[in-house]
This record gives sequence, C-alpha cells and structure tokens, in this order.
Amino acid sequence: MAKAKMTREEMVEKFNEFVDKFYKKELAKAANDGSPLVINFDVIDKFNADLSDMLVNNSNVFMEMSNEALGQMDIANSVKLRFQLNEPLNIRDLRSRHIGKFICIEGIVRRSSEIRPEIVETTWQCPDCGEIFPQPRKANFIAEPYQCPKCRNKNGLKQIDKKMIDTRWVTIDEPFELTEGDRPSQLNIFLTEDLVSPNGRRMTDPGNRIRISGALREMPKGKSMVKLDFYLDANHVEPTEIAWRQLEVTKEDEAKIKEFANDPLIYEKLVDSIAPSLYGMREIKESIILQMFGGVPRTLKDGTHFRGDIHLLLIGDPSSGKSQLMKLIPQIVPRGKYVSGKGVTGAGLTATVVKDEQFMGGWVLEAGALVLTNGGLLAIDEFEKMSQDDQIAMHEALEQGTISIAKASIVATLPAQTSVLAGGNPKFSRFDPYMPIAKQINIPDTLLTRFDLKFALRDVPDAEMDRKIVEHVLKAREHDFESTKPLIDPAFIRKYVAYAKKKYRPVLTAETGKTLRKFYINMRKRAEERGGMGGPIPITLRQFEALIRLSEASARIQLSNEIRKEDAQRAIRLMRFSLEQLGLDTKTGEIDIDRAEGAATTSSDRSKIRVVLDAIRELSEKSKEVPVAEIHKLAKKEGIESDDEVDEIIEKLKREGLLFEPSPNYVQRV
Ligand SMILES: [Zn+2]
Repeated sequence: MAKAKMTREEMVEKFNEFVDKFYKKELAKAANDGSPLVINFDVIDKFNADLSDMLVNNSNVFMEMSNEALGQMDIANSVKLRFQLNEPLNIRDLRSRHIGKFICIEGIVRRSSEIRPEIVETTWQCPDCGEIFPQPRKANFIAEPYQCPKCRNKNGLKQIDKKMIDTRWVTIDEPFELTEGDRPSQLNIFLTEDLVSPNGRRMTDPGNRIRISGALREMPKGKSMVKLDFYLDANHVEPTEIAWRQLEVTKEDEAKIKEFANDPLIYEKLVDSIAPSLYGMREIKESIILQMFGGVPRTLKDGTHFRGDIHLLLIGDPSSGKSQLMKLIPQIVPRGKYVSGKGVTGAGLTATVVKDEQFMGGWVLEAGALVLTNGGLLAIDEFEKMSQDDQIAMHEALEQGTISIAKASIVATLPAQTSVLAGGNPKFSRFDPYMPIAKQINIPDTLLTRFDLKFALRDVPDAEMDRKIVEHVLKAREHDFESTKPLIDPAFIRKYVAYAKKKYRPVLTAETGKTLRKFYINMRKRAEERGGMGGPIPITLRQFEALIRLSEASARIQLSNEIRKEDAQRAIRLMRFSLEQLGLDTKTGEIDIDRAEGAATTSSDRSKIRVVLDAIRELSEKSKEVPVAEIHKLAKKEGIESDDEVDEIIEKLKREGLLFEPSPNYVQRV
C-alpha cells in the first residue's frame, strides 16, 4: 500500500515551507523586478518526493496549488512560477502515456510563428442581478456561460472584459546527436507570457538550441477527431550550449589530447585520419582540419566583427572524389550536415517565411540548413545550383554568421555561425584549366571572395597516380582493412576539436604578424608594379583575414595561445597552393587574384592555348587521333610561328589531362 497522500492544505503548507527554505532570496528578487521565480526539480525532489511526484504526474493541480501557496506568502507583487527539469526525454520516445505529464525536451528550433495575443479568460455580467463573473477558457474554446452563477438567469449575459496573453508556437527538431537518417523527430511547443518577451523571443527564434520543461498535451491532428498529436505546453525555457561545447571532455581525454598536441607529426596524423578511403588530396584535407578547429571570432571596439569560421570551396570534376569527401566530413563534426544546393527544398539553405494557417496560424519563420547547423559545419554540394534567394542571403551568412529576414510581418536575425564546405561543378562536363573560374562555375564573384581557400579537384589521368589509387583501393578491399581505418578515431577528434576551440584563443605575435604582413604586402606590391591603379590586385584584405584565421586554427591544434612561425607558414603555404591552383598565371608565374576570384581574364598565354585547343577540336572532327604536324600547321595560320611553343602547350595539356597520346606523334582529346 502506498502511504496516504497529503491533503491539499498540507501540500500548500509544504510548498510554502519549501520556498521559504530554498528560494527566499530569489522570491524577494522576483517580486521586486517582476521576473519569474525559477525552481529546479532536483531541489524539490530532495525536499519532498510527494511534491515532486505531483509536479510530474499532476502538473495542473500542482500549478494551482503552488500559486495558492505563493498567494499566502508575504510578497509585494505576484510572482510567476517556472519549473525546470534536468533530464530531457527524446522526442522519438514520447508516447500516449506521457500525455499530461510534466517533462523536459531538448532540441533545435526549426520553425517559429509570429507572436500573437490569445484570450485566456473572459469576464461576463448578468443584466438581471448585475453579478460580474469569469469564464475561463477550456482547451481551445471560449464558450458563452450557460447561466448567471448567482441568479441562474440565462438571457442577455454580456461579455465585459477579456484577459489576454502573448503566445507563440515553435517546432523543434531533436538534437543532431540523436538524429538517425535525414529526418529528425519534431515536437511543437506552446510558449506564453514571459517566454515570448523580447529575450524569450530571441531564444526561441529558429536555429537556437533550447531545453524546455512543460506539460505534454494532445491536440487533434488535422481535421481528424481521432488522431492526436503531441505538443508541449512550455513552462520553462533555457538555452543550451552550442554543439561543440556540448561534448564532454574527461580528465583522461584531456591528458590524451595534450599528448597528441605535443606530437610534432600531429598535423600529418590528422590529415591521415580524414576520409582515409580517399587517396591524396592532402592540402584539401589539411585545410579541412584547419576549418574544423577554426579561427577566433573577434569584435573590435568600433563594432567591426571578424568571423572565426573558415569557409572552403571545392570545384571539381565529377569523378574527382569531391562528393565522397563532402559526405564524409559532416560525419566527423558535431552538428555537421550534408546537403545538395539543388536538392534543398522548403526553407532552402538560409531561412524563409511561409504561410501556415492550418497549424500555427499566419506567417511562420522557418530555418534552413545553415541555421540548423549553427555552431557546426555544413557541406553544400552543387553550390552553384542553389536558389536566387539563398544566394543573396548566403553573403551575410558567410561573412557575419547571421541571416536576416524581413518578409510579411516577420523581422528576425537568425544565428548561422556555420563553417561552410562548398562544392561546385565546372559548368562544362570537365574542368578547363585555361578558362577563368567565373566562366566555369555559376557563383557570383562577391560570393567567391567569402571563401578562405578555393581548390580545384581534377580527375587527371596520371599513370603513377592511378597505380597508387588502385593499390590503395585494393589494399582496403582485400587484405588490409587497417589502411582505411582512421589513424585517430573520429569520436576522439571531435573531443579534441571541442577542447581546443573552448580553451584556446591564439593571438599574433610581433614576429608572426610580420611574416603574414610581408607575404600580403609583397603580393600587393607586385600587383602595383604590374598594373598600378586599376590593375589586377593579386591579394585583397579578405585573403589577409583568411591567413590570420588559418594561422589561428593551426596554433589551436597544438594547443598554443600564440600563433607561431610554423602556423603562419602553414597558412601561407595553403593559401599559395589554393591561389596557384585557381589563379596562377601560367606564363608569368604570378598569382592573379582577380582570376582566382573570377573577375578578369589575363595572360597572353591563354589565347595561345585556346588556339591550340581550337585547332585540336577542329581536327578531331575528321578523326579522333590528331597528327601533331597538322596542329602545327593550323597554329601557324593563327600566328603561332614556333612549333616548339605548340609542342610545349601540347605537353602541358597532356599533363592537365585534357589530351593523351594514342600513338607516337598523335594526340587525342580525353
Ligand atoms: Zn444574475
């Protein structure tokens, strides 16, 4: 037999005693400044199990009882009570037996409605006896009173007042670490009063991660009266830490992280641990490692904000391994996600405002992938195929880490501090290294400049490379699985990154500042010598900021609060590699940023390469195998006198994988 339950009076008394014992100071403060009094479940539970049991299993009665108790206390103003639970349930585990229970749920806000007033109570007057009486709301209906409670008169009852509160509906997705597959479980949340104040509002805008305590209730699903859907009637909302910080790092982990960080080969080891099934791509993998660790976001005194997020762009041939790489990386990163620019529907990549009359009523703000991965990493494949709206919003997202939206009656700024790993396809089926990027990919220049590093992944036929790749694949398939097992376990990398991000904010030293500045100034100087004002600028301030971010990330890997010489050198080396891949003028050996970012066409050489390519194209129409002598003849007609020069270009095209030699003195297009 369960022990006898306390009477209601005893409960009220017990609750009074509880508040007096544990929350006296907080109560006085709440009564003074009008803030709610937040009571933690564990504190009640330790004090009296009957009280905590009542909160969980009979929350409606508990709320009435606790308010009654508060009413008896000697306080200046009425105080709103909020109860906070500590152990969240998984959305996917909610069942009908949870209905009516006070529970706690954690998730990321995907959608939120406008804030609108709702009537909670009406006040009526009887024309006969003059009695004024309240009529509380029942579920979603406010019915007219049946009769006057005093004289039983049923006619002419008049509504004279109504009590309203502000409300908002939001939909949350279960947290990334619980998501199985692409579709996370969702739950609708009903928020009222102080939970929709300006502060509460910001907390429940899409993209935020929150923990909500409240009573689980049911409502009809659609027009059916039989099928029900859950919603959580929120009582308390708190923001929870962003993804990276969520990860728990134990003392043992810490010791292991420090050991790894001290290893001079740690950079190589991390590179070897990223997508080991994909051969090569070392510079790209190294850049992705730096992207994971990230730079340090800074805000100057004048309010100028420098992002810490590092963005990378990979432009690649279809079979270059780009998409495989992009699918693997988000699996290592907390709150990582892979989407295709083409495949994203609904809220798209950024955010959108849609009409939702059926459920939320009116305009609804919905977060796109960039907002939902706030604090994490988003791999966006087929970047050039995203919608026009997304393209516009992407500028702000990449630079400021926010997405502002003003549409219909909704105005909001959503968080999007997301590192972007974008992938694009060349416009034509294959990469053409002699055409500026802008002509090969449909990404506006202004967007291209937001990427810290840009890479070209080419599927270049190369006998030596092919042999190595085949060997690598065979090794993995046949006898030695060890070779594709990551050197460092992804779960440990996550902890390592989380720890480094949380604890280290490296700064430039006088020496490393000088190194980066020197690289930057040299590049600019060369541009001036070449073109002066209006000439091509080899490096812009955005590249300089990128250099700093990359150096910061490099220092974090070895848990250094200082950017060391080797960090600056690593950043410069990767920047050079990136610029040379995409923008190096093949004739002069100089780097032309305008070309890397797709603005201008330069180089005398390029026109010669074009001539040779055109000649080959023309000759190919007659037969697949083109005699080199014929190319010489056609090139001469177009003004390239030297056969050696033509041979040099042919050699180059072979190296680039555009041509091969089917038999001596013949070439064929790939
Ligand atoms: Zn009456």
